[in-house]
Amino acid sequence: EKEWPRPPECRIITIANQKGGVGKTTTSVNLAASLAMHGARVLVVDLDPQGNASTALGVEHRADVPSIYNVLIEDMPLADIVVPAPDIPGLFCAPANLNLAGAEIELVSKVARESRLRRALDSYDTEQFDYVLIDCPPSLGLLTVNALVGGNELLIPIQCEYYALEGLGQLIRTVDLVKAHLNPVLKVSTILLTMYDARTRLAAQVAEDVRNHFGDIVLNTVIPRSVRVSEAPSYGQSVITYDPGSSGALAYSEAASEMAHRGAAK
Ligand code: ADP
Ligand code: MG
Repeated sequence: EKEWPRPPECRIITIANQKGGVGKTTTSVNLAASLAMHGARVLVVDLDPQGNASTALGVEHRADVPSIYNVLIEDMPLADIVVPAPDIPGLFCAPANLNLAGAEIELVSKVARESRLRRALDSYDTEQFDYVLIDCPPSLGLLTVNALVGGNELLIPIQCEYYALEGLGQLIRTVDLVKAHLNPVLKVSTILLTMYDARTRLAAQVAEDVRNHFGDIVLNTVIPRSVRVSEAPSYGQSVITYDPGSSGALAYSEAASEMAHRGAAK
């Protein structure tokens, strides 16, 4: 099936988990690439000072490139920083660079410090896109709070390892606070199990625990651990274009298809 159903209005999906290395960036980039390959127009907002999503999309993000830092701190319009990703038509990126590392502190003294990204999105034509995916840094600081206030949906990638569920309570409490005070429409819509190692009993056990706990918001598709997935970013590519037949590419494509066919949760 070449074209997947497109949502009636833009789905703004925040991808967060305050743990580092659980697959947030990999998930943002590869879901975005898969959706764009099937006819959607997709914007990835890179909200991590490391700029890994920008790198993986092959987008320039040197310190002098206009970036999400200028949007959050200097009120630069999003339209001035969004650039097309070179490989895939319909795929775009709002890049981040190391300037953003200072933003966590600089935001503290700003008016509406939790809602800077939301305001930028509100004054931008997001309806030119079917999806906006926001890749978060590994913390629950103001950048991630901005992403939670800016999104309509939250996708949590969970790595299938021993400490997977630890810290999720803190994330869910932050989401509840954001819902109560800043963004009532936010919904935990999707959980994706990442870096699954089918050889270990532990991975199966973690997957089962997560499904028991979160129910049917957990996608049926599980992302396997695959070397090709970890190689792709160094070529400035998603695994979807780097090695389309690899297990990682097929799994991300399947997960994206599930998201597209489920649609935005009510
Ligand atoms: P986060 O953004 O949550 O910090 P990343 O997406 O950067 O996590 O992933 C952490 C590391 O694990 C990266 O080096 C990435 O290439 C690697 N990785 C992510 N998903 C997979 C996978 N399915 N198989 C193998 N390596 C992966
Ligand atoms: Mg990351």
